[in-house]
Amino acid sequence: MVDTATIRPDTRASASDVPPVPAVTPPPEAQPLSDFDLATRIANGVVLGLPPLLLCFGAWLTWRHQLHWSDVIVAVICYVPTGLGITVGYHRLLTHRSFRCGRWTRGILAALGSAAVEGPPVEWVANHRKHHAFSDQEGDPHSPHVGHGDGWRGAVEGLVHAHLGWLFHSEFANEERYASDLLADPVIRFVDRTFVLWVLVGLAVPFGLGLALTGRLSGGLTALLWGGAVRIMLLHHVTFAINSLCHFYGRRRFDTEDESRNLPWLAPLSLGEAWHNNHHAFPTSAAHGLRWWELDVSAMVIRAMAATGLATDVVHISRQRQAPKLARQ
Ligand SMILES: [Zn+2]
Ligand SMILES: [Zn+2]
Repeated sequence: MVDTATIRPDTRASASDVPPVPAVTPPPEAQPLSDFDLATRIANGVVLGLPPLLLCFGAWLTWRHQLHWSDVIVAVICYVPTGLGITVGYHRLLTHRSFRCGRWTRGILAALGSAAVEGPPVEWVANHRKHHAFSDQEGDPHSPHVGHGDGWRGAVEGLVHAHLGWLFHSEFANEERYASDLLADPVIRFVDRTFVLWVLVGLAVPFGLGLALTGRLSGGLTALLWGGAVRIMLLHHVTFAINSLCHFYGRRRFDTEDESRNLPWLAPLSLGEAWHNNHHAFPTSAAHGLRWWELDVSAMVIRAMAATGLATDVVHISRQRQAPKLARQ
């Protein structure tokens, strides 16, 4: 839990010749309201609402035999790196510091995460750190278990809120309070400021790949549809499912103080993030899959980065450290 008490200056040296020092109050929990709030909510609506409409258009094109093999290849080529930008970059590196890397690697991972269109890195990290600080209690920005009543109706309302409703209703976590380290990092501040540029690059790449693979403008446009809109939508809902389903369904290997769960069928698409009970038990662990059979592509990438010198100080949780937290069967 985060200490919300007011921090007062040291008063031991407060003799009459020392001018009074004002009390230092930590930044509030929620991000202060700004002129951009309404614009952000509208942008959320567009980013979440437009891709499903475009998916319908894509389905219609497929029915008319307009889906090309190149579109599928481009979608996969774009899904994996932008997904890793979220899982390896935003989550395991920037939020939890489960390994260290150089400024270029850090910047590229943050730019790839930005291209996933889940918000700029500082905002994403602040909200996620607050989720861990208040997990499934009052203050958690996206718990399916807080404030939604009992019965099936409360369960459905909670799941909808945790999945995407919170993006429209919850106050966002204060960046000064939850991500001051990132605000002090010039590389991350640069990527944060230029977020829209990386979103546009993430759309230009599939268009360019489609154009190059087919040699036709229509090939570029259908690749943009599948490698852009559909890829963004799929990755959004996989990430959202970690917040909703992985706090609701699945097994709990570890006795954590929240409702986090491991959901094996979501592990491949989420690049390893669905071992969410493991993650809540050991948030700084670079690997979320803690057994050899728990597929965790992000952990494999971090291992490869460590082997090539791109990542150092990788946090590994031994079986010995895991043992005391195992749930009693
Ligand atoms: Zn969680
Ligand atoms: Zn986390």
